[in-house]
Parts: sequence; structure tokens; C-alpha cells
Amino acid sequence: MKKEITIVGAGLVGSLCALYLTKRGHKVTIFERRKDLRSDIIRAGKSINLALSERGWTALKKVEAHKQVMEIAIPMHKRIMHDEKGNLSEQAYGNQGQAIYSVSRAELNVLMMKLAEENGAILHFDEKCVDANLEEAIATFQNTNTQVKQTISADVLIGADGAFSAVRKQMVAKHNHEYNYNEIEHDYKELLIPAGENGTHLLDKNALHIWPRGEFMLIALANLDGSFTCTLFAPKNGENSFEGLNSQREVEHYFNTIFPDFTNLVPNLYEQWKANPTSSLGIVRTFPWHINDSSLLIGDAAHATVPFYGQGMNAGFEDCRILDELLDKHGDDLKSCFEEYSKTRKPNGDGVQDLSMQNFIVMRDSTADPKFLLQKQIEKKFANLYPEKWIPLYSMVSFTNISYSDAWEIGMKQERMMEEIMKTPNIENVWKNDEIMQKMLSLV
Ligand SMILES: Cc1cc2nc3c(=O)[nH]c(=O)nc-3n(C[C@H](O)[C@H](O)[C@H](O)COP(=O)(O)OP(=O)(O)OC[C@H]3O[C@@H](n4cnc5c(N)ncnc54)[C@H](O)[C@@H]3O)c2cc1C
Repeated sequence: MKKEITIVGAGLVGSLCALYLTKRGHKVTIFERRKDLRSDIIRAGKSINLALSERGWTALKKVEAHKQVMEIAIPMHKRIMHDEKGNLSEQAYGNQGQAIYSVSRAELNVLMMKLAEENGAILHFDEKCVDANLEEAIATFQNTNTQVKQTISADVLIGADGAFSAVRKQMVAKHNHEYNYNEIEHDYKELLIPAGENGTHLLDKNALHIWPRGEFMLIALANLDGSFTCTLFAPKNGENSFEGLNSQREVEHYFNTIFPDFTNLVPNLYEQWKANPTSSLGIVRTFPWHINDSSLLIGDAAHATVPFYGQGMNAGFEDCRILDELLDKHGDDLKSCFEEYSKTRKPNGDGVQDLSMQNFIVMRDSTADPKFLLQKQIEKKFANLYPEKWIPLYSMVSFTNISYSDAWEIGMKQERMMEEIMKTPNIENVWKNDEIMQKMLSLV
């Protein structure tokens, strides 16, 4: 049966969800708090970019949006690590031809909204959700320009309104759903490496660049216009923290000492430092993700995570694909559909969050550790010899659709096994010997 569906939030996930639901023939209306990004894409397009990987692509393919997204995506086949002297080392993300993709968040969002609209979704901007009756799928929106309120009634209300979701707030306040927000000790700030002459990229554009420094790190992803969006992740307080970076002298000294090759590429570093906000990062855990057959959470509203695996959006896109599969399975029985969605997606929301926290340590610390790099080489050799027995954790997360919860569990088992292997005396020199592969085979 065709339904009237209200979606709160025209972000990445809300727009893709609308595309999925309009393709099923439902009447979808989206209410978005911000103004229409499309009117300001030139400015908006310059900011954040995101890494899109297999799960994201799988969800986009199912609604035939992947070809248009590929036109605005830059493949990144490897990590390039920059040490304190500016020396580079690199590590392939997967096998030949495998890559994650850098995409401008704003351009991708604009494209997803356009596709949803072309498929029949109706979008309203400057409309902030301020209240909701979740059992009745009724939401109240206040226009951010006129302050005028309107109440919209539908068959289903979907909260795709991000980490600070107003819909989730109602679920927690009125229906006692579990809720936990855990802000981490690290904040982040974005900085831009401008394009070189004629829009050339000043670093290898087909890599994700990392300046790993133990407790903190800087990363850079290429944009189509030749620039790189960079993000510094650092503690709020203490040594090398945001707290100590205020004056021009402090900021320039920090970057000149710790990230010298990066600093050379950014002529107006301090201006950017002052102009760009410092933002916090956190993990949202909530349960259940639905009320009866009337309301549902999707994307960050249900499982916002920290960005260290580049999976938040990918996980949200996967929500859309799985919801679509469950709608096929349950037909008009939306209550069973939403129940199963909530129950089966929650462990994956938790899984992507565990993975993201673990990968923070990998990125900021382990990528500068020769022993870690050797371990990854050994794993790769084994995976190439016995692909049916071993998929490296990074590949499971980024290049397959294996559920996040399974990937996390398998990955932890692999880690315990590799701890044993890495204890082998003189492993640096003997790792290529067949005995190591045989030992792994016996343990796996
Ligand atoms: C620094 C950083 C880097 C990241 N890098 C990656 C990456 O590389 N790869 C990846 O997969 N993910 C990444 N993420 C995560 C990714 O950005 C999010 O997971 C993704 O944006 C979630 O999409 P969403 O649509 O659920 O939420 P959002 O993108 O937050 O969209 C929510 C929308 O709802 C609107 N809204 C909010 N409240 C209301 C309201 N009350 N009424 C109406 N509308 C409302 C908002 O304006 C917004 O448009 C990163 C996140 C950060 C912070």
C-alpha cells in the first residue's frame, strides 16, 4: 500500500532514503532545517569531503545513483603517511584496483536531493522540526525565517535529522528509549591546502594523506578543484591540544615543528585557524530505533559515530538499503518491518562505532609503527594465499558488505591471532618463510 511519509532532514541519508521510498511509489515529503544548499553550492562545495566505500556504493547502485556519484568522486588507493621530517611512506588499502573515494559532502548532498526530487519527493527548506507525536506520525515544523509553525500528519515519520536529532529526542523523552551520548576527548578543525597553478593538486590526489603523531593526527583528502580538505584531530586539553593553540606564534610554531611539509603548502594557515570552528566528536547510542509502524530513525540520528573509519555516511546509506530489503520482506506489515530493522541494525550501529574508535588508534599511532606495517604485510600475504580464510579487517569494512558487527568480531579474533604471530622471534626477517604462513593456517 502506498504511504504518505514525512522525512525530517535532507542530509545525505534523508535524501537517499527519500529516493528509495519514492522508487517504491510512496509519497515522500522532506523538511529540512537549513536553507537550500543548492543556492550556495559554490561556497558549500569547498568544505568537508567524505570517504565513500563499498557499502555506500552498494546502496547507491540499488537506486542507480552510482554513476552520477562516480563523476564527482576521486579514488584513493592508498594511505600516504608523512613523518615529522616530511618523509613519505605508503600502504595500499586493498588489492589492485580497490579504492575508497573522496567526495565533497555538499556536492553529494545536492546530487542526492536532486535525484530524490526528480523521483517525486517534495523538499521544504528552512523548516525545523520542533515537536512530534511519534505514535501518530505527526510532526511540527517552525519556519526559521518567519517563525510560523505548521503541523504535518503522515502515515510514517522518519528521523534522518543527524546526531542531534529532534525526532530521537522525542523518542527518548516520551517513550523512554535508551540514549547515551559519549563525547570523546578529541576535537577537530578543518583546514584547506589550496590548489596549485591551473588547479593542480599539490599532493598525490589518489591517496588519503595522514600525518600520524601518536595522540593526534592530521589527514587530507583531495577535492576536484585541486585543493585538499584537511582535518586536525587533537585533544581538547593537555600537551599538543587545542587548548594551547591560540596566538599566531603558538599555532605557527606547532605546525612548523610537527607538520612542516603540510605548513609549506598552506600560506594563510593562521587566518584559516582563526576563521574555522573547532568542533567536538561523539558517539550516539539509542534503542529502539522505531515506534510501532509509525516512526523510525535512520543514519546519524540512530548511530552517529566518530569519523575515523570513514563509515558514518556509509553506514547510513546501508540503513537505507537494508530498510528497502525489509520492506520487500514484510510488505504492508510495517510494524514487523520496523521491529526487525531496529533489532538487526542496532548491533551494526554499535559495530561501526567500535570499529571507528579502534581505527582512530590505528591511524594516529599504528600507521607510524614499523611493527604494525609489517603485521599488515603478513596479513596481506596470507589473505592473498588463502582469500577464503582471511579478509583483512580494513577490507571487510571498506570493500565488502559483511555486517559491521561480524567484521568487528572477526577482526578482534584476527588481532589476537596476529599477536601470537608477531611474537615469533626475529619476525622482521623470517616473515616471508613458509612456516609463518603454515602457522597462521593452523591458527586461523
Ligand atoms: C569530520 C567528519 C568527517 C567525516 N568523514 C566521513 C567519511 O569520510 N565517510 C563517512 O562515511 N562518513 C563520514 N562522516 C560521517 C558523516 O558525515 C555522517 O555519518 C553523515 O553525514 C550522516 O548523514 P545523516 O543524513 O544521517 O545526518 P546529517 O548529515 O547530519 O544530516 C542531517 C540533516 O538533518 C537536518 N536537521 C537537523 N535537525 C533538524 C531539525 N530539527 N529539523 C529539520 N532538519 C533537521 C540537518 O540540517 C541536516 O541537513 C564524517 C563526519 C565528520 C564530523
